[in-house]
Amino acid sequence: MSEASERVAVVTGAARGIGAGTAKRLARDGFAVAVLDLKEDDCAATVEAITQAGGRALAVGADVSDADQVQAGVDKIAGALGAPAVLVNNAGVIRDNMLFKMTVDDWDTVLGIHLRGSFLMSKACQKYMVDGKWGRIVNLSSSSALGNRGQANYSSAKAGLQGFTKTLAIELGQFGITANAVAPGFIATDMTAATAARIGMGFEDFQKAAAASIPVRRVGTPDDVAHVISFLVSEGAGFVSGQVIYVAGGPLC
Ligand code: NAP
Repeated sequence: MSEASERVAVVTGAARGIGAGTAKRLARDGFAVAVLDLKEDDCAATVEAITQAGGRALAVGADVSDADQVQAGVDKIAGALGAPAVLVNNAGVIRDNMLFKMTVDDWDTVLGIHLRGSFLMSKACQKYMVDGKWGRIVNLSSSSALGNRGQANYSSAKAGLQGFTKTLAIELGQFGITANAVAPGFIATDMTAATAARIGMGFEDFQKAAAASIPVRRVGTPDDVAHVISFLVSEGAGFVSGQVIYVAGGPLC
């Protein structure tokens, strides 16, 4: 049995992509995993993969930007699986456009899901971590936090998450809780496939073009990100807090 056998991890946006990869990895690490996404039914594949591999998982439907749904979801997790000890704020969307075309809805949706969602989930889960005097929070930032054309909303949210992470680390450290951010570069998921479609490129060509400018000459996978998250939520990472780790196949400036 691993060190995490009795601990509960909550992964948002875990129906697919990086969230699904992370949920499965944390289950392999020994966590019971709450697989949270907008629609409970969409979580079925991730939950099934975990349970078939011998793990414990629970599907939870909730919109992370809705305070009531977040509270109901976290209550359900605490009742059915146990007190959340790990939270991975991964749920996200993109609504890319150049500033002059970006609508107020595009702005509010992206800021609402990434920033408000991470705030609501962290607030609801920290209570259990403080009571248990142990916790790990990992927020999904992005290389776009450094600025990216067509992503004024997304880059603001992802940069905001870095400040949020550092503040959580300062406030919650005294309770045995760490908070860190991972900032992926190009990861092959439905999100990057949607970007390729938006600019009229095939996904294979889009990945090839991206890989050419990445020092390790490939794009990332959900498992690349899950591996770093696995480290950050481990027992041994208790002295690493308030950090942003870029998972991008090379340095970014
Ligand atoms: P993805 O494949 O699009 O998956 C995102 C998941 O989040 C989807 O299952 C989505 O559900 C869910 N979600 C969206 N809005 C939600 C809400 N309000 N409440 C609950 N769940 C919600 O994206 P991904 O590529 O795995 O990205 C995961 C995270 O990594 C995001 O925060 C993203 O910004 C970040 N990231 C990704 C990359 C990349 O290259 N892929 C790079 C840097 C950072 P629906 O399917 O129902 O919409």
